[in-house]
Amino acid sequence: MTASAWDAIFGFEKVSLCDWPGMNASVIFLGGCNMRCPTCHNYNLAWHSHEMTVYPRTEIEAYLKARQRWIDGVVITGGEATTVAGLADLIRDLHTLNMPVKLDTNGMRPDVVQELLRLNLVDLFAVDVKGPYRKYPQLTGGTTQPDEAERNLGAIFAMAEMHPQSFLFRLTHVPALSDTDVEEARSYLPQGFTLKIQSYVPPRRPHAETDTETGRLSGDLVHRTDFTGHPEGPESQRH
Ligand code: SF4
Repeated sequence: MTASAWDAIFGFEKVSLCDWPGMNASVIFLGGCNMRCPTCHNYNLAWHSHEMTVYPRTEIEAYLKARQRWIDGVVITGGEATTVAGLADLIRDLHTLNMPVKLDTNGMRPDVVQELLRLNLVDLFAVDVKGPYRKYPQLTGGTTQPDEAERNLGAIFAMAEMHPQSFLFRLTHVPALSDTDVEEARSYLPQGFTLKIQSYVPPRRPHAETDTETGRLSGDLVHRTDFTGHPEGPESQRH
């Protein structure tokens, strides 16, 4: 049976005013990630989604149908959405509800981004540039080597040059980055693009403490179906 990306949704934020500039958006959180960033706010979602409860598709569809006049679009974030099988079909399903889609990505699956572009399924890709390529191993928990980061982001930048209206780039200024590092990362962008710098905000939950073994912050910003209220983090903490 073909995998459905609906079965990889582990969080749903009904209304967000900060995830898609100028839009009242709902936010879908997909589980799984190809990185292990030490500063990840959503590590349960990214690495342990198999222990989480799938957010019911029927609830999301019912909500979006009932709020079509008020919700301008849907942001798909993660985890890393491009690692999820059936992503294109999920987006098509959202289009049947008249929902344009913004996709957050760490840029390491340019093949998926290229295909979504070709199919004209995504209105806006928000791509994270983690820092200078040479620091990717440190910034991503050893998952991504400098040459890999350069190759994949280079492919994304080439797409952005062809479709400038479809891309924006952002960098979260985590403690491991100096101002010089930020400028180095900024220099990678194609002409005409700006790098949105987002402040790093440590998790605010009372039990968010540093994990002494891995050096990462514990805590998880994603809605569990058994939680109420909004995730704690601003847009900058999605990735
Ligand atoms: S910060 Fe983003 S890219 Fe990094 S592990 Fe977490 S979800 Fe994945």
